[in-house]
Amino acid sequence: MYNAKAYSVASPTSPFASSTIARRNPTDNDVQIEILFCGICHSDLHQARNEWSGMAPTVYPCVPGHEIVGRVTAVGSAVTKFKAGDLAGVGCLVDSDGTCPECQTGLEQFCPNMTLTYNFPDKHTGGVTYGGYSDSIVVDQRFVLRIPENLDLAAAAPLLCAGITTYSPMHHWGVTKGKKVGIVGLGGLGHMGVKFAHALGAHTVVFTTSENKREDALRLGADEVVLSKNANEMAAHAGSFDFILDAVAADHDINAYIMMLRRDGNITMVGAPEKPLPVSVFGLIFGRRSFSGSLIGGIAETQEMLDFCGQHNIVSDVEVIPIQKLNEAYERLLKSDVKYRFSIDMASLKSE
Ligand code: NAP
Ligand code: ZN
Repeated sequence: MYNAKAYSVASPTSPFASSTIARRNPTDNDVQIEILFCGICHSDLHQARNEWSGMAPTVYPCVPGHEIVGRVTAVGSAVTKFKAGDLAGVGCLVDSDGTCPECQTGLEQFCPNMTLTYNFPDKHTGGVTYGGYSDSIVVDQRFVLRIPENLDLAAAAPLLCAGITTYSPMHHWGVTKGKKVGIVGLGGLGHMGVKFAHALGAHTVVFTTSENKREDALRLGADEVVLSKNANEMAAHAGSFDFILDAVAADHDINAYIMMLRRDGNITMVGAPEKPLPVSVFGLIFGRRSFSGSLIGGIAETQEMLDFCGQHNIVSDVEVIPIQKLNEAYERLLKSDVKYRFSIDMASLKSE
């Protein structure tokens, strides 16, 4: 074991503070990574504040962060995929059993024995896993991704969660040229959804509660923008979408969006609000519409997404911050006041 620097929270209401955590020394299959940038996902906030206490109670101290980009510093003797000096990425997953039907089909995120990057039992240390708000991490090579060399690293970090979480359901539900696609919530996930839907050739419509994001939405690739508080703008799109991706982190009226779907249309939730959303079944019955969810994506698909981003020069729009601004960043994230993802420059941790 060795000590790594990190920022952690000690309780649902404590601010982040500088701390030291124990990491394992690399075993034969492990890759040790010096973390250069880590994105701030709204899931980090839900988890740090124990907002998912029913599904995934938080174990404190908690070190979030699952949008990790860095450089390999050491590899175990059996590692073939990486060598010291390579760029590397780590997303939400750091382990799975590799043998179940989900793993065999490249859907490690649904493996009953998967390990998430933070707040999950850690078989190596006996404690819980610690995420990327840290200067280094050690991960099994099967869960380490290649980062295309042409991408800006601070802006590539959010691809590891916001990128794959929006890319995967679009592929699953067949988003292509000619389809009409809605993206609800122009946050970290939503703005990546807009970039992917646009790159896939879909007619892309953004639903936002923030009037001041209208121009950005168009710049990011939207063909149309709807202010969801405006009933007339909403009514103009009733019954017209093939697919809607809902990336809202808070309570909102899901039925308004179900009614936006055409026959056999699908709305997929990637947003994970704390409280259940009431769904009107009549909206589903009439039009044979479907309502579903999606969780990140498998490792092979994450690499496919990263390569797609490398080819199309797609990255996140980031505001780079030093780690000392973490508490302030969380407050701004809660107010939907980030354009469109915070990316922590981990060089700032050196001074702690
Ligand atoms: P975010 O950056 O905070 O974006 C959420 C957006 O939702 C906001 O920018 C805002 O967009 C909209 N919004 C916020 N409050 C709202 C309200 N009361 N009513 C309507 N819209 C509201 O968050 P994120 O990092 O993109 O994450 C979004 C959600 O996805 C979180 O719940 C997160 O935990 C979840 N998530 C799920 C997965 C998965 O695998 N399923 C992976 C990562 C994250 P506008 O200003 O445009 O309205
Ligand atoms: Zn995330």
